[in-house]
Amino acid sequence: MRPTGRLHIGHYFGALQNWVKLQSDPTYECFYFVADWHALTSDYADTSAIAENSLQITIDFLASGLDPAKSTIFLQSQVPEHAELHLLLSMVTPLGWLERIPTYKEQLEQIKNKDLHTYGFLGYPTLQTADIVMYSAAGKGLLVPVGEDQVSHVEFSRELVRRFNNFYGLEVRPELFGFDNYGHLEFVLRAVAPLESKGQIEPPPLRELTSEEKNVYTQKVLALAKEVGIQNFLELMGGRRNFFTYEDKLTEPGHLLTPTPRIPGLDGRKMSKSYNNAITLSESDDDIRKKTKVMVTDPARKRRTDPGNPDICPVYDWHKLFSTPERDPGRLDWVRKGCTTAGIGCIECKSAMAENLPRLRSTSEKGPRNPGRRERESATVCEGDNGPSPHRHLQLAPQTLRNLRLISVTPPNNRT
Ligand code: SF4
Repeated sequence: MRPTGRLHIGHYFGALQNWVKLQSDPTYECFYFVADWHALTSDYADTSAIAENSLQITIDFLASGLDPAKSTIFLQSQVPEHAELHLLLSMVTPLGWLERIPTYKEQLEQIKNKDLHTYGFLGYPTLQTADIVMYSAAGKGLLVPVGEDQVSHVEFSRELVRRFNNFYGLEVRPELFGFDNYGHLEFVLRAVAPLESKGQIEPPPLRELTSEEKNVYTQKVLALAKEVGIQNFLELMGGRRNFFTYEDKLTEPGHLLTPTPRIPGLDGRKMSKSYNNAITLSESDDDIRKKTKVMVTDPARKRRTDPGNPDICPVYDWHKLFSTPERDPGRLDWVRKGCTTAGIGCIECKSAMAENLPRLRSTSEKGPRNPGRRERESATVCEGDNGPSPHRHLQLAPQTLRNLRLISVTPPNNRT
């Protein structure tokens, strides 16, 4: 999550609540981080708030129930490999893919107080891909818990990883260039010959090939494989596929779709800090009551005696979240009946909802409320000294990059 300020209840119901559940599921090993480098993509001109916001957001993580003993929680900039992987991925990211992302255009149009025409802002989804695929372990799946509106972001990452693997996953084994395999090499070269040559090729010289010749042939073969797709290429090679190895250099991520309820802001629009219509997780009980008093309701219910329609009222949406049967048995029926018969007024209805909001917060917090303790714990988390297995992120990230450094610095035939 980007550290742009305290988290609000939209974040809690849209993500955190689910993250807390996942960390107790033994199926998953969970990594959650504060994306302070992502904040730079839009706040590069004034970075003064990023460090403090990173600490505050970590406090909200912990207060919501994320537990450093169960999940690895960290600060993105503590792991320089995120920047390195971003760089490698950016080399294969087509500009058109980035420019077509709807949120990119939307934000350029909507955010007028910052100049977002920068390389960093455009490349945001590539950095996000690096963040995701950094933490995959061999043979294990990689899932990103998202709501429906974010599925396309994971799709972007999956496509980019596929493209990356297409470039770097296939290797030609040195045996293809052995003198005994002259006939096989000739077959392969004929298969990769351009269409217009109708398979006519200059056969390889009948002698031990030089390193330079091997590299030229290797590049020809890899170029065709990228063009037709790795799987098609291996099928084309038939029995000669043993002269090639393929491995996914990075794991394609999938999405773990999580239900995200509708969480309107105080004014009925989508809840967002920039619309100034949110309630943060750290808000005082008094502030919550004050803010909810002016919340919009069913616009057709103008007088106390008019019956209302809870299905179009943001207050009722909030009741569904806060006034659950466990927390406040019978409250939802009370609202529906009272609203549709004009038996209750909106002030009364909002006040009942506002009573349940702080109760939600106290049940989501682990242990007694103790801001001093939270600050200390959060500072520890930001320093990276936590996790079910200490520094798990600092173990996995270098492993991922070690595998990729071979790609970027070593000629194909000298790879170890
Ligand atoms: S009574 Fe409650 S649900 Fe009905 S319009 Fe008023 S605030 Fe909304």
